[in-house]
Amino acid sequence: MDCIFCKIAAKQIPSEIVFEDDKVIAFHDISPAAPVHILIVPKQHIESTLEINSSNSSVISHIYETAVQLVNSLGIGGDGFRIVNNCGKNGGQTVDHIHFHLLGGRNLTWPPG
Ligand code: AMP
Ligand code: ZN
Repeated sequence: MDCIFCKIAAKQIPSEIVFEDDKVIAFHDISPAAPVHILIVPKQHIESTLEINSSNSSVISHIYETAVQLVNSLGIGGDGFRIVNNCGKNGGQTVDHIHFHLLGGRNLTWPPG
């Protein structure tokens, strides 16, 4: 499958990995939008949030557990941070493999563009 995040998970293309276990991989976004910008990605290919169901949803809680571990290890919990999942064209999704952006290290504005 021609999926860039599957290839990153399989180490077929390089990335700056910050965490990995049997279910997820987390790496620095190649085009960071904040001082901390990490992508947390399930190793299983799930196209988007629309594909989440009772058979695969446990990976989402695992992604959030991973995010909290990263937040704590980076020391950004006190100042706050944002976790973003873009879905589909209007959501701004550009890679069709579900992923969660962990953003922090600056005051993030709201509402989004
Ligand atoms: P989204 O727009 O929500 O689909 O986010 C996709 C993200 O993947 C963007 O922030 C890109 O900068 C990032 N990205 C694309 N290719 C790579 C790559 N090879 N390594 C790291 N991040 C990437
Ligand atoms: Zn994939």
